[in-house]
Amino acid sequence: MSKTKQAFAVDADYMLKLSQKYGTPLYVYDTSVMEKQYKRLKKAFSKLDTQINYACKALSNTNVLRFFHSLGAGLDTVSIEEVQLGLHSGFSPDQIIFTPNCVSFDEIRQAVELGVRINIDNLSILEQFGNTYGNSYPVCVRMNPHIMAGGNTKISTGHIDSKFGISIHQMRHLQRIAESYKLNINGLHMHTGSDILDVDVFINGANLLLDCALQFNDLEYIDFGSGFKVAYKPGDMETDVELLGERMTELMENFFVEYGRKLTIEFEPGKFLVSESGYFLADVNVIKQTTATVFAGINTGLNHFIRPMFYDAYHHITNLSNIGANERVYTVVGYICETDTFAWDRRISEIREGDILCFHNAGAYLYAMSSNYNSRLKPAEVLIHKGNDYLISRRQNFEDLLSTQIEIPLNN
Ligand SMILES: *Cc1c(COP(=O)(O)O)cnc(C)c1O
Repeated sequence: MSKTKQAFAVDADYMLKLSQKYGTPLYVYDTSVMEKQYKRLKKAFSKLDTQINYACKALSNTNVLRFFHSLGAGLDTVSIEEVQLGLHSGFSPDQIIFTPNCVSFDEIRQAVELGVRINIDNLSILEQFGNTYGNSYPVCVRMNPHIMAGGNTKISTGHIDSKFGISIHQMRHLQRIAESYKLNINGLHMHTGSDILDVDVFINGANLLLDCALQFNDLEYIDFGSGFKVAYKPGDMETDVELLGERMTELMENFFVEYGRKLTIEFEPGKFLVSESGYFLADVNVIKQTTATVFAGINTGLNHFIRPMFYDAYHHITNLSNIGANERVYTVVGYICETDTFAWDRRISEIREGDILCFHNAGAYLYAMSSNYNSRLKPAEVLIHKGNDYLISRRQNFEDLLSTQIEIPLNN
């Protein structure tokens, strides 16, 4: 039901060159990998009218958005700021879908004013929407099919305790609101979590959503969200999107017969499109041998890369400075003043102080989740595009840290 990844390759000489040119820590992204992933997904669903919207919360640099726009992708956004970034990056309003959760109605109103597609996941907001716009503005509804999916509870959104979506058991209430306000419901949506490996879980969720879809006559599209799992370590499995494409094609062709006409289907991957395109480079500051462990302490921390501490995420590490040397066991840690571990008991080519380590799968949810904790500056981001490397956001400087602070007179 899934595919296995064997090796994690990286052009060590090129990455070392970039680490010297731009300094470390450094995020590096490669557009050719983004393009490969986008085209792979497009191809898997090519028998259907398929729209892929890049979920830009994974990596939101405007150049990355512009690149996906150039490939023909739409954009999935979760905040008004992401909507603005999308418009700034060249997407037209109808290419942007706004899928917020627990935002104020005022934020939804702003998105309507910008003309983007609206996806609502709460009955009380839907009523306010009906009150304000009636049938004058189309709306998509996010359903919660209550399937347990995803790598861990922090990234699962479809289960019974989840704050996301309108329960499929509230269908009658949803229809009542839709009828009273004569809502123009033109899309149905689900997004049940991240790191869903099993194609059957997807298909189960899709079936539940399609049952709901039969209750709405004016649909133009059905959005199946995301959750595609990528491989994080050698031997790791990833979602078999080709198999999913075949199964979905069959499912949808049957559905279209029942529904009476064809609809567009949409997906909104973040991780699948950008995770593998990214490399995070860091310098080894110290090797610290304690009674129990050998620590490799690097010049970054959970402020730049929170996934291991937050999600127990595994990220593969290559010692770019000592490829092919004998492996030793290390615990790789950051410089933040609290426990800040990137890898526990990991076998890595012997590490020496001054070596450059490369973390793989650094495209999604690294820079996007970074902070200034410990008053550390955010690193630079570099984009490799058509054989050239470009600085796409500069390293922060000390002035940036103070730029939003206002000093007040404190002498009584
Ligand atoms: C986060 C999110 C996504 C992207 O999830 P990935 O696991 O990165 O593919 C898609 N849709 C919505 C609504 C999201 O919140």
